[in-house]
Amino acid sequence: MKVADLHLHTNFSDGTFTPEELAERAQQAGLGTIALTDHDSLEGCARMRAACAAHGLDFIPGTELTADTQGQEVHILGYWIDEQSVPFQTELAHFQQVRQSRIHEMVARLNSHGIPIRAEEVLKLADCRAPGRPHLARALVAGGFADDYDHAFDRFLKKGRAAWVAKARMKSIDAIRLIHDAGGVAVLAHPGLYRNDGIIPRLAAQGLDGLECWHTKHTPELSAKYERMAAELGLVATGGSDCHGMSKGQPLVGTVRLPQANVDALHARRPVRS
Ligand code: AMP
Ligand code: ZN
Ligand code: FE
Ligand code: FE
Repeated sequence: MKVADLHLHTNFSDGTFTPEELAERAQQAGLGTIALTDHDSLEGCARMRAACAAHGLDFIPGTELTADTQGQEVHILGYWIDEQSVPFQTELAHFQQVRQSRIHEMVARLNSHGIPIRAEEVLKLADCRAPGRPHLARALVAGGFADDYDHAFDRFLKKGRAAWVAKARMKSIDAIRLIHDAGGVAVLAHPGLYRNDGIIPRLAAQGLDGLECWHTKHTPELSAKYERMAAELGLVATGGSDCHGMSKGQPLVGTVRLPQANVDALHARRPVRS
């Protein structure tokens, strides 16, 4: 039976694999379909599509947006987005700009705490339009200011720590509309990480199409709970590993395996475009 992993990052945002490396790993893991969901970017999709074709994989273009619902940061995955959509690309360009300024702000905070790191170095290491905290973590490790990636987050980058700066968010209703207007479907990423299930019916009422029931950070009990919620709310149950390449040692790609039937159900939710 064909299986899918619908949540994957490359070096076009904060993953470490190139699209070609990711396709190779996905094929080795026995996947039949993969979606690329880099943060605030569709830029890797062209290369990912070609690499998937070369490896006999079905490809779904996507992205992961940061949104706000009732003061809660949520991540919304958009799938089958028209990469040529001007309104969508304009919005992405804005959020990419904000990410770059945020790196400067976080570096300034580190500097004021006596860590002599330079924003230019972090942005050079990131080498993409959507830099984020994982790049800063890698720069801190490379500079000897943290023992490893997780230590960098614990010491400096987690919410409430010295270098933490809030990330800009669009309103969830706007994120969902933006995705639909670009021909895509909207899925709430890793609901288990928010510890706030009350937002799910609210997002469903805003037009959400799917719920990421299976995710590396969900226990089997959490996944079962979200599968029930998805059925109750008429959402498609989806899943993905959220692989960021070698960030966490072993790559996660293929550790979540969604049946193709769920992918087909999600595909059927695509809006009819006028
Ligand atoms: P950003 O988009 O810049 O806020 O960074 C978010 C990314 O950082 C997530 O997608 C994760 O890959 C990673 N991340 C967030 N929190 C942690 C943490 N506590 N430890 C390790 N990685 C984290
Ligand atoms: Zn990430
Ligand atoms: Fe996320
Ligand atoms: Fe992600």
